[in-house]
Amino acid sequence: MNNNVTNTSSTTEVSNTDPPPPYTEIGSNLSYQQIVIVPPKLKDQPILFNCPVCKEMYLTRVQFVNTTKTHMIAGFIGGLTFWCMLCCLAAIPYMLPTFKKAEHYCSNCDTLLGTYSVL
Ligand SMILES: [Zn+2]
Repeated sequence: MNNNVTNTSSTTEVSNTDPPPPYTEIGSNLSYQQIVIVPPKLKDQPILFNCPVCKEMYLTRVQFVNTTKTHMIAGFIGGLTFWCMLCCLAAIPYMLPTFKKAEHYCSNCDTLLGTYSVL
């Protein structure tokens, strides 16, 4: 009876607490050629836009159009001011571009490039 138990008390301390290093590949390879029609930050002002049709940078032509929200806000203001003779304020949303949707068109080929709305 020679229980030759080799008691190898392996003290392999696995450090599970250390998180894996984060991937830092952001911005390393941005050389893919893809036509992505995602507008850069459109505002209510004309911006330089790389037109996917003309393949050139053109200043956009901004056209303000009324949306459903424009009518809703106008109706809301009109309803609020109906009793105090100020219902002409309901025309404000139709006059201010803030309440409208800005549509950006290419100034060269008139392609709709994107829209911008504050609301
Ligand atoms: Zn164009």
